[in-house]
Amino acid sequence: MVRRSDLLARKAALVSGSGFWSTVGDESAGIRSIVVADGPHGLRLQRDGGDHLGLGEAVRATCFPPASGLASSWNVDLVERVGIALGEEARAEGVGVLLGPGVNIKRSPLCGRNFEYFSEDPLVSGELGAAWVSGLQSTGVGASLKHFAANNQETNRMTVSAEVDERTLRELYFPAFETIVKRENPLTVMCSYNRINGIWAAENHWLLTTVLRDEWGFDGLVMSDWGAVDNMVPALAAGTDLEMPGPQRDTVEAIVGAIADGSLDESVLDVAVSRLRTLVDHVPTDAPPYDAIAHHELAREAALESMVLLRNEGGILPLAPTERIAVIGEFARTPRIQGAGSSQVSASRVDSALEHLAAGADVTFEPGYLLQGSPQPAADSLIEAAVRSAAAADVAVLFVGLDEGAESEGYDRTTLDLPADQVELIAAVTAVQPRTVVVLTNGGVVSLEPWHDSAAAILETWLLGQGVGAAVASVLLGTDAPTGRLAESIPFRVQDNPSYLNFPGDGDEVRYAEGVFVGYRYYESAEVPVRYPFGFGLGYTTFAYDNLEVSRDGREVAVTVTNTGERRGAEVAQLYVSAPAVPVRGPVRELRAFAKVWLDPGESRRVHFTLGDRAFSHWDVPSSDWIIERGDYEIQVGPSSHDLPLRQTVTLTGQRPEQPLSLDSPVSAFLEHPVTGPLFRLAAAGRDKDGPTEGGTSVLDMVSSMPMRRLVRFPGVPVVAWQVRALSAVANLRPVRAVARLFGR
Ligand code: BGC
Repeated sequence: MVRRSDLLARKAALVSGSGFWSTVGDESAGIRSIVVADGPHGLRLQRDGGDHLGLGEAVRATCFPPASGLASSWNVDLVERVGIALGEEARAEGVGVLLGPGVNIKRSPLCGRNFEYFSEDPLVSGELGAAWVSGLQSTGVGASLKHFAANNQETNRMTVSAEVDERTLRELYFPAFETIVKRENPLTVMCSYNRINGIWAAENHWLLTTVLRDEWGFDGLVMSDWGAVDNMVPALAAGTDLEMPGPQRDTVEAIVGAIADGSLDESVLDVAVSRLRTLVDHVPTDAPPYDAIAHHELAREAALESMVLLRNEGGILPLAPTERIAVIGEFARTPRIQGAGSSQVSASRVDSALEHLAAGADVTFEPGYLLQGSPQPAADSLIEAAVRSAAAADVAVLFVGLDEGAESEGYDRTTLDLPADQVELIAAVTAVQPRTVVVLTNGGVVSLEPWHDSAAAILETWLLGQGVGAAVASVLLGTDAPTGRLAESIPFRVQDNPSYLNFPGDGDEVRYAEGVFVGYRYYESAEVPVRYPFGFGLGYTTFAYDNLEVSRDGREVAVTVTNTGERRGAEVAQLYVSAPAVPVRGPVRELRAFAKVWLDPGESRRVHFTLGDRAFSHWDVPSSDWIIERGDYEIQVGPSSHDLPLRQTVTLTGQRPEQPLSLDSPVSAFLEHPVTGPLFRLAAAGRDKDGPTEGGTSVLDMVSSMPMRRLVRFPGVPVVAWQVRALSAVANLRPVRAVARLFGR
């Protein structure tokens, strides 16, 4: 006879892991153990033991570009194919859940883990994250959508509280999660380490149950980030189903104790276990092999689409086949293909740009600088040698960027600058070789100052995964064209970023004081110039936009994009909506749709967009709901957040029910009302007979925000409370309003 307490303990043991990378199995309960592994840009499977900081070796796998690169492709089909490949590799290795994608918003360019996140914009993060999940889960392997939520920095990530208002969460930090949950049904969601407004994500009932399950309909399993659970009893009650890693003996004892003393209902544990059962029953048990060569080719294709050409003075790129090229910079020979930490993949192979360039052109090579960890000879001699080779060549291609120690999971950056020796190298090389192409390697945004103007071309390659070498060489030599666009703004100075004074916060608290004004939403609204705007990117051809058509309700939009240059290329047509600035202040524009289109020279394509309600809504705090306000909305279409040549206004009647007039209404409501407006204006005209004051203000302007209840108490005001009540009662009658509106016209 098994005792009830033992049965309960066995059940409680199921809700924490079995080691780093697997769940607990219980044969008698018919629940098998499954393996989970990082993610997100390749499989990181550690066979023996392991760690979650990327320190130990993992099985060989294809390393695709991390999210900052992938996002720059703006190509949902490509990202979906990457998701499929990831699923095939996970499945082949017997992995049931791949720990990704990471869809946290890049609140600050300094976040050490920005390389693992898609964008500063929730639409880009949500669409690309959804494509990733769709691809992955089509293979049967489950995704773990992470890190839910408001995990936007690494500093104190295990203790910090993100102090963020609900509208900002709903409009900015939640939508990517929401889209993916609603559309793709990820098998699991990973809750983050941090607290949100004081409450641990793992223990946040509002987050994990009210919003995630009740509102968005999530029916999968919530697992904790590794070590994110402080106390599994309240975490279970809040909606966390699985604590990772495990086993956690004290968790089992605490759960059994809480059920025994009645502070935790056993049904809560049963629900968590049933979610685990559903998960393990769902993921595949077979392990078909995958085609590693095809995956490497896909990694190359993804790398190709991830690069963003920022500058190309005089069309210096692509390079002519006859040019003598001085390749400079250790990154050309020793590429950095990914970021550090839990996502680190043991790549199945890596090709360097140097070897691919050397195979197709006349090149010399100088390292120019040393990577972190190399013995340090005098940097001057490296720079001198680089300068000599640059001067002797027709063109210099200078690879610079951040090395592994500069950005990583676990800590944030403190500067956007490139290492000082590399900035010196750029100055020295460009002084002797005006035809210098700078190729950047970095996971998060780097500053292009003060050297920007001295470089003839700048190619931002982010971190490109194992396809880096062939991809970079083919863009430089013009076999392929760059087609990426920035999924994050590049500011002139880190101080220009809206989170600057509140990142990474003070001690264990970080205030999201900038609210919804993150990234371009701030730069465009506050008219703060940036070096390159969100959405920007060049190619080897040019595009024109014309013939914008917008339906009366703004929901159907069409535009013609034409390739006006001489080469085939891709344009990312971007659609922004500019909402009226009342009653809540929002960004001057927000990205609401995009499409990547490939066009031959001279070819035109009609691009169609369909917008839903959300494209016009904001989160209304008083009603705790999305609402479309009455007013004029501008549809803006073009190639970046700052360059939107086509615009058209639509007027929407909105969804806010008309508020009946009462003594609590502000004076402005009486002025705007079709019945009371003319009466009040007439009365005011009598009193305001000398017209507006010198400054142009009128009495009405001055009192318009006052509640009527207060106004009528002032001496000399020609109406009293009962008159307002009576007038309101008449004015609120629907037929009266309708007739008044007719006359008003
Ligand atoms: C990271 C997660 C990762 C987990 C397992 C944590 O440190 O935040 O993204 O999936 O470790 O490696």
